[in-house]
Parts: sequence; structure tokens; C-alpha cells
Amino acid sequence: MVYRWLKTGLDWLLPPVCRLCGDEGQPGRELCAGCERDLPWNRTCCARCAEPLPAARRGLLCGRCLRRPPVFDQALTPLRFEPPVSNLVHAFKFRGDLAAGRLLADLLADAAAERRPALLLPVPLHDRRLRSRGFNQALELARRLGRRLDIPVNTRILRRCRDTPPQHEMPARARRANVRGAFEMLEELPTPHVALVDDVLTTGNTAAELARLLKRAGAARVEVWAVARA
Ligand SMILES: [Zn+2]
Ligand SMILES: [Zn+2]
Repeated sequence: MVYRWLKTGLDWLLPPVCRLCGDEGQPGRELCAGCERDLPWNRTCCARCAEPLPAARRGLLCGRCLRRPPVFDQALTPLRFEPPVSNLVHAFKFRGDLAAGRLLADLLADAAAERRPALLLPVPLHDRRLRSRGFNQALELARRLGRRLDIPVNTRILRRCRDTPPQHEMPARARRANVRGAFEMLEELPTPHVALVDDVLTTGNTAAELARLLKRAGAARVEVWAVARA
């Protein structure tokens, strides 16, 4: 309460500055309305996996989902992984810029406002990766999302038991094998409707592997929420 009051006071004294153009930001957000409008929004995308599609195919499925739908039920990725979004993600993930993370989480929270999963599950990082990075970007995003949307966040159910090379460093075919068996469940799932949270959705193989695990444990609906679609 005191924090919130102080925060409101500070926002009034020092209005947020837009991280992209330096103009005055919007209340509580380091982004001005113009720069927010100009972000690479992922509006025309596959209804299932959120892969960007040509504008004419809005609301349809991509070829891959038509042939073989993914294990997860739906992906929500409001932005495309292009500058300046990709720069913000890098600042957050590799330079520990937590303010960039908060901004990205808020953009994702806006897009997820109508969704009602009962639980948010950040994609876990292997202990070794966690030690070298110092924080799990997916957990930081999930925490802010949970607060904004009033959905609990659970970090105990899923564990990454195998450290795998980053997906983007691997050839496409090796990626699926790369994450197979990389995760385990340590606790029972308390609800059938969950959302996995990550920073960027790339091949969807990590999400699919986790969704497979969750469905085997009784999940009825697994959504995948990420800030951006690569
Ligand atoms: Zn701006
Ligand atoms: Zn698709």
C-alpha cells in the first residue's frame, strides 16, 4: 500500500520516459503511445501456433498446424520478434535490464487480459543456466503477469532436468530431439487449465514438450504465452 502510494507519487514527479524515443511515456509505462502503436504487432497469425501469416489469412491456421496441430492448445504472442522488440528482449535477458522485462510483461498482459487460465507456469531454466544468468526471464515475466491478471504463478511443478543448448543454435531437425525428456514434473497439477510463460516462442518444440508432459498429467487446456513470436 505504502509502496503503491510512493510509486504513484514518483510517477507524478517523474513521469516515465519512452525507452524508444525519449518522449514522455504513458502512465506507468516506459513507452509512448506512438511507439506502442508502431511496434511489430503479431496481429495476422496462425490461430493455433501464432506463426505470422500474410494479412489475407488472418484467423486461419498455418500449413504446419493444418497437417499436424501442436500439442498445446493455443499460443498467445502479441508481438513479432523484430526490432525494437528483439532489442528489448535482449536487454532484458542478457543484460539483466529488468525495466525492459516489466515493459514486455505489461504488453503481454494487455493481450492476455481476456484469458483465464488458473495457473501460470514459467518455462523453467536449468539450475546451471540459472546460476550463470542470475534470473529466469520467464519467471520474471510470469510474476508480473500474475500480479497484473491476478493469476497464481507456480515454479515448483515443472523442472528442467537436462541442460540443453539454446534452440536457436541448432539445426531445425535437431531441435525436437534436443528438448525431448528435458523436463520433469515434481508435483501434481492442481488445475486442468494452465498457461506456459516464456519470453520468445521460436520453434514451439519446448512448448510442445512441456505441453505433452502437462497433458499426460491431466491438463485439459495448455496455452503458451510469450511476448514475441520468432
Ligand atoms: Zn516513444
Ligand atoms: Zn500454426
